Amino acid sequence: MTLRTILLNPGPVTLSPRVREAMLGPDLCHREPEFAALQTGIRERLLAVYDLPASEWASILLTGSGTAAVEAMITSLVPNHGRVLVVENGVYGERISNIARRHQIACTQIAHDWLSAPDLARIEAVLSADGPFTHVAVVHHETTSGRLNALGPLAELCKRFGVRLLLDAVSSFGAEEIEAEAWNIDAMAATANKCLHAVPGTCFVVARREALANGVPVPRSVYLDLATYLRNQDAHGTPFTQSIQTFYALSAALEELAEQGGREARAEQYRARMARVRQTLLELGVRPLLPEGQSSCVLNGFHLPSGLSYDPLHDGLKARGFIIYAGQSALAQQIFRISTMGDISPADMDRLCAALREVIAPYTQG
Ligand SMILES: *Cc1c(COP(=O)(O)O)cnc(C)c1O
Repeated sequence: MTLRTILLNPGPVTLSPRVREAMLGPDLCHREPEFAALQTGIRERLLAVYDLPASEWASILLTGSGTAAVEAMITSLVPNHGRVLVVENGVYGERISNIARRHQIACTQIAHDWLSAPDLARIEAVLSADGPFTHVAVVHHETTSGRLNALGPLAELCKRFGVRLLLDAVSSFGAEEIEAEAWNIDAMAATANKCLHAVPGTCFVVARREALANGVPVPRSVYLDLATYLRNQDAHGTPFTQSIQTFYALSAALEELAEQGGREARAEQYRARMARVRQTLLELGVRPLLPEGQSSCVLNGFHLPSGLSYDPLHDGLKARGFIIYAGQSALAQQIFRISTMGDISPADMDRLCAALREVIAPYTQG
């Protein structure tokens, strides 16, 4: 038997057989009622992941990778007179600012070191001295470092200043807790191929209906205008061709998530996997990048042991059936990353821990 390769990179993920097979569903025209039913089912199940009422919230499906959803969210939700404050502590926060600037949306960045938590005192100072802002945009799980940004205190601050939150939830939606109502979130962007365990190609924005109604009168983009999609999708249509096979996969993956106990059960499963990885690596003398309490359950970073650079670590694990992920930019020489997402069995976890020992022990234990 050939063992399948397990992806431990932050998406795309290892698929379950059911999700893979779903892509072989019948050919479908996107103007037929069968497509409308498929699309409506996915939209409903996406809201159900966080128990959001359809009267106030809408999920909007787009064909593209996670960045398309983030760009659609920023360009469709910040009005012409709006101003967005972007909290950056990694690659993806910086990408939000880049998107805002390209579209000439008034934007102020609060840049942090990639290993730092958002500095609330600095954010408060900017909100009060440089405001008014209409929105704060932030990444929930900053995949650059594995940090889960604490949104509760930031949301409190935003409320005091009457500022709405826009969330990049691309690598947290489906696993981490998101209190969309309590945190005054106007919209969150995410994708099918991370914590939801489907394939790349479909991304989505979950938005407050009211926020979109008060959005941008003249859309900044033809293809990424959320108001256009919402109007069409509410009327059981789509403005553009969607990726039908990817929809099949996402629909099956959402059914599977619900059957497996929903978001909380998935987070629990990720936490158990990550605890094993952290423990195995600690025993090997490999230190995590961040303390457990500041890390997501989805992905953690680890310091490369001295004498072992990323490539031989990656290649040794790949030869044993596991794909890990490098650090970005300056972190490339210092860290490696391991994600817990995807269809991974207890036996796969046993093999992973054994593989980590085989590859790393010669470097750290003489
Ligand atoms: C993966 C990811 C994205 C989007 O990346 P794509 O390659 O466009 O799918 C955006 N934000 C975060 C936090 C991510 O982890």
